[in-house]
Amino acid sequence: MSREDYEIIIGLEVHSELSTKTKIFCSCPTTFGGSPNKQTCPICMGMPGTLPVLNEKVVEYAVKAGLATNCEISRNSKNDRKNYFYPDLPKAYQISQFDEPLCEHGYVEIDTENGKKKIRLTRIHIEEDAGKLNHDEFAGDSLVDLNRAGVPLIEIVSEPDLRSSEEVESYLRKLKSILEYIEVSDCKMQEGSFRADVNVSVRKKGETKFGTRTEMKNMNSFRSITRAIEYEVDRQIDVLEDGGEIEQETLRWDDVSGKTFSMRDKEDAQDYRYFPDPDLVAIKLSDEYIENIKKNLPELPESRKERYLTQYNLSEKDAKIITSSKYLSDLFENAIKVCNNPKAVSNWIISDISRILNETEMDPIEIPFDSNQLGKLIILIDKGTISSKLAKKVLVEMFEHPRDPEDIIDEKGWVQISDEGAIKDVVMRVLEANPQSVADFKGGKQKALGFLVGQAMKETRGKANPQMLNQMFLEELNK
Ligand code: ADP
Ligand code: ZN
Ligand code: MG
Repeated sequence: MSREDYEIIIGLEVHSELSTKTKIFCSCPTTFGGSPNKQTCPICMGMPGTLPVLNEKVVEYAVKAGLATNCEISRNSKNDRKNYFYPDLPKAYQISQFDEPLCEHGYVEIDTENGKKKIRLTRIHIEEDAGKLNHDEFAGDSLVDLNRAGVPLIEIVSEPDLRSSEEVESYLRKLKSILEYIEVSDCKMQEGSFRADVNVSVRKKGETKFGTRTEMKNMNSFRSITRAIEYEVDRQIDVLEDGGEIEQETLRWDDVSGKTFSMRDKEDAQDYRYFPDPDLVAIKLSDEYIENIKKNLPELPESRKERYLTQYNLSEKDAKIITSSKYLSDLFENAIKVCNNPKAVSNWIISDISRILNETEMDPIEIPFDSNQLGKLIILIDKGTISSKLAKKVLVEMFEHPRDPEDIIDEKGWVQISDEGAIKDVVMRVLEANPQSVADFKGGKQKALGFLVGQAMKETRGKANPQMLNQMFLEELNK
């Protein structure tokens, strides 16, 4: 039997850090990248005798996420202790939610090659993040940084509805864009604020029971997730084909070797000895509270996409690319306010900007220039100050050393020559140096004009305004 005889089953647990100002049970800040252990207090350091108090914003953000993903919102819910020891978890338990999560039974719709597909969400619950271990390779030590301890998370658990790595990527991108649009998380994958545990199993086609799953934890790059799934599926099929059994275990994906390694046997829920946290009160939400959040939910990617079709005349495909990320979409709308040229802005985003993002594996939120600068670049092209060819070089420069496009072309001397006198000088020089081409043109060879324009471009190192060159050559040649 071969890979084609197996079906791939995947379910994801996505952890997303909420962008509240303060942590979930104390008032320490949640900002990323501070000096180790400076953003801590006795509560988030897990000192005995301290009392956690639930941050109301965390509930609000989680309910927002639930409503945006078609979940039912629980009127009654609570926090539970999940007991396990880990060096970056000083309390030796994590406050999470067990049997009464805030949100349940939702779905996210994705596009697949066979049309739209609903990926069901089992639940969304709130919990606290753990600290971080920094491994010092030289000293051979591990140091604990508790700045992240107590940063609020939502965990979004999907049903095992995904059937390929392509579906996984499309689901994750959709989910990420929804969370960005409703502004509950910045979803910066490199900083770990959007990361997934990937559960994979395989079964023979036609089989109705699921196979045993393995789980790869904390994956935060689309490319690694795809590679890890492909590797793990092949590995599981090999084991089964050799007559072996899959062990339920937690694996670690190693990006360098391109392999998965066993970390530990997978725990079951009973291993955690969940119980309601006696320090926290039950969470009771009124219909009015939920309605109010629903009413104020911002525009979601799907509806923005529809709007772009009519408002800006974009094609379905282009509108989808732009609205796939809130940051791209905001860049688009704000740059239009500056240059009033929607077609040009969408072209730049879809072609050059997307290409650079892909090549550098950059997330749109990391684009270093702003909508004002993009709008100005387009104005410079529209005014004829620079050619679109030069503009591409300016854009690359804007990614590398972001500043105003005017400053870049000034510094680099990239201003397009549109001065009539200067253009005429070049034209005359080129005509004089190429009598054969002049004769060819007069003899009816249209192509000779292209050659002459090319020579003039070469002489000005691409800076002459091409329309003006063309026109002036024609005038002189037809004299
Ligand atoms: P845990 O936290 O112990 O991993 P959860 O129930 O929170 O358990 O998450 C289980 C995840 O694994 C869900 O996303 C679910 O869809 C997925 N899953 C469960 N069974 C399978 C399976 N046989 N194959 C693939 N994924 C599975
Ligand atoms: Zn604290
Ligand atoms: Mg899990």
